[in-house]
Order: sequence, then C-alpha cells, then structure tokens
Amino acid sequence: MSYAPSEEQRMVIESLRKFLDAEIEPAFRAHGEGFIAKEQMKRWIQGLSEFGLINAPHEERWGGLGMDWLTHLMVFEEVVYSSLDIAIPGMINTVGAELLHRFASQEIKERYLPSLISGEQFIAIGISEPDVGSDVAGVRTRAVRDGDHWVINGEKTWITNGAYSDVLICTCRTDDNEVSHILVDRADHGYEVVDIQKMALNGQSTAQVFLTDVRVPVSNTIGEVGAGIRNTLMVFELARCHMAMWGIGIARRAMDEAIAYSQNRVQHGKPIAGHQLVAEKIATMATKIDAGRLLAHRAITMVQEGIRADKECSMAKWYGTELAVDATRDALQIHGGNGVTREFIVERLVREAIICPIPDGTTEIQKLLIARSLTGIDAFR
Ligand SMILES: Cc1cc2nc3c(=O)[nH]c(=O)nc-3n(C[C@H](O)[C@H](O)[C@H](O)COP(=O)(O)OP(=O)(O)OC[C@H]3O[C@@H](n4cnc5c(N)ncnc54)[C@H](O)[C@@H]3O)c2cc1C
Repeated sequence: MSYAPSEEQRMVIESLRKFLDAEIEPAFRAHGEGFIAKEQMKRWIQGLSEFGLINAPHEERWGGLGMDWLTHLMVFEEVVYSSLDIAIPGMINTVGAELLHRFASQEIKERYLPSLISGEQFIAIGISEPDVGSDVAGVRTRAVRDGDHWVINGEKTWITNGAYSDVLICTCRTDDNEVSHILVDRADHGYEVVDIQKMALNGQSTAQVFLTDVRVPVSNTIGEVGAGIRNTLMVFELARCHMAMWGIGIARRAMDEAIAYSQNRVQHGKPIAGHQLVAEKIATMATKIDAGRLLAHRAITMVQEGIRADKECSMAKWYGTELAVDATRDALQIHGGNGVTREFIVERLVREAIICPIPDGTTEIQKLLIARSLTGIDAFR
C-alpha cells in the first residue's frame, strides 16, 4: 500500500490546480456568494469534467475517464479547496450517475449517463422531507401504481441541485412497507422547486421540491421495487466519502490562508507564526487534515474494492466534517480582527464549515452507526 499519490494522480492534480487557479477561482471570486445561474454552473462543471470532476470513476463508454474512485476523490478535494459551491453539483452528479449505473435499466443508462457524466444535465437525489431527516426510513412521499405508471405526491426538502435538476431520483413509499427509487425527468413530468437561503453555500442550489400528481412510467423505477433503503446505503457510502472531502478541502484552504497570514503579520516583534500558541494551532490543523484524508482515502478504497465500508465511511464523514469546524475557527482566530471581515476568505470558510456536519447523516447519526457496527446493538430501534 502506498501513501504517496501515483505519478498519474500527481499529474491530474497539478493540471487541475493550474486550471482552478487560472480560470475557476478568479471567476468564482468575481461572482461573489450569490446564486450561480444554471448555464454558468454548467460551463464551470463541464470545464472541470475535463479533469475528472464527475467523470473520473465512470466507464469510458458513458464518457468517463475509467479512473479509480480514489483519484476522483483527490480531484474533488482540489475543487472544494477553490470553491465548495462549484464542487457540490459535481458531487451529486457523480453519486447520482453511480446510482443509475448500478441499478437502472440499460435504457435509462443510455438516456441519462452520458449527459450527467459530462455535466450537460444535472441530477438531484431526493430523500429528505419536512418530517423526514435523520430517520430516512420514514419517507412519506407516495407513489401509487396506476396501470403502467406511478402517480407521485409529496414534498422533498434540502435537495441539492434542486433548482438545476433535469432529473430527480425520488425516494418514494410505494407500499406501507416499501421504499423505492423512481426517476422523474423534469421535462416530461414537471415538479415545482423553491430554493432555500442558507448562511453559506448559496451559490449552488439547495431546494424544496413539490410533486403533485406527477405521472411517471413504471419503467423509471431504479432498482427493484422495495429496494430503496438498501440502495440508499450505497449512495450514503459514496456521499459520505465526498462529504469528508467537503471538510478536508475547506480545512486545508483555511490552514493555507492562516499560514500565509501568520508568516506576514508581525506582533511583539516577530511574525505571529513564531508565537507558540499560533504554531500549535497550525500543527493541529495539519495533523487533523492528514488524519481525515487518510480515513477518507481508506473508506473510498474499500468502496472501490467492493468491501462493505459503512463504518469506515461514517468515521471519515464525522471526522472530516467536524475537523473543518475546528480548523476554520482556528484559522479565523489567527487572522484576529481581520478574520471577521469579508476581505479575507476565512470568514466564508467558517460559515461553510459549520454546514458540513449536517448533510448525509449528522455527526450524531454517524457515531450511532459506528457504535452499532461495533456492538451489534441498534440505537435506532
Ligand atoms: C446543505 C444541505 C444539503 C442537503 N442535501 C440533501 C440532498 O441532496 N438530498 C436529501 O435528501 N437531503 C439533503 N439534505 C438533508 C440532510 O440529509 C438532513 O438535513 C440531515 O439528514 C439531518 O436531517 P434534519 O435536518 O431533518 O435533522 P433532524 O433529523 O431533525 O435532526 C436534528 C438533530 O437531532 C439529532 N438527532 C436526530 N436523530 C437522532 C438520534 N436518533 N440520536 C441522536 N441524535 C439525533 C441530529 O443529529 C440533529 O442534531 C441536505 C441538508 C443540507 C443542510
């Protein structure tokens, strides 16, 4: 096992970083924190797909680069470092495309995979509802069979890519005891979307989705009827590795900003980096970031190898996202008063970091999952 990136991975990351520094980051900074229109987001995502943002791990016949998931995660961390707003839609397309790749019919794969993998279309994954958060098995959105169609009624909330979405994977209750995934093509079967304003990450879309008598062919069912919860676990494994990188990318950026600031800011006759309590913060950030990255890389490697990794993915998600909260707080502290102004990026990073421990299972839920897999005793029943 090697802990050093391969020559190929190093080259991918180096060329991506040049592109991010030259094209994406200046444009994103000039845009500010307001909502990024779909066409603009599409251009950025498609540009980044040249470097593997969505397509790295997917098969070449669908437009993928046929690389491994670990390389993809490295690419993802690098994009987060420059802009989490731009990385997130790419993550949802990556995970959504993998859901279709594993469970959808050949016809659906042919229709959607190439455009999702290239970033031409956006997918959203709708599990959460106003009364369904941590307890995903409680889904209430109903799909009732009517001949060759499902008729869907319900409301989803917190749906990433909601406003951008061309396609929604809707988690529905198809029977009292069944949860199933149904693909809803927005052009064929419209649904209403209302964006949610948050404390940060308003460049990309997080939305409420309203489905009223939406008629969808039964052939749009993804996977077997009733397999929704089981298949969601696969989505969670991949998503949690990406979520870990939300935290690690943000924390790494905060650390680099803090290092640069502490080398230049002079107090008590020397750069503040030379004061031991500041140095301790930087050493702690660096060590936790590396530890978090190792956890995430282990988890994605196990997923890649088809080894059950729910415990490892939960560890990576919990640790990677919580370390971002601590690291950004310390980075802001190192900036002193300047840290709370909009002149310095750390202020934005703090607001982004505090969101990370919530999606795809909160820190509390990850801890319960880890303990369950160790003790065999289920906190949820
Ligand atoms: C930016 C963002 C993007 C998101 N994107 C998506 C998306 O694309 N698709 C989607 O379906 N959802 C998405 N979500 C929803 C997200 O998955 C949920 O917010 C999350 O699962 C928590 O659910 P909740 O907000 O309803 O909180 P709740 O489940 O109501 O939890 C509230 C608090 O109670 C705690 N809690 C709950 N149950 C327990 C328990 N058994 N033991 C101990 N503590 C508990 C939680 O940890 C939390 O602190 C997104 C959320 C955010 C913020």
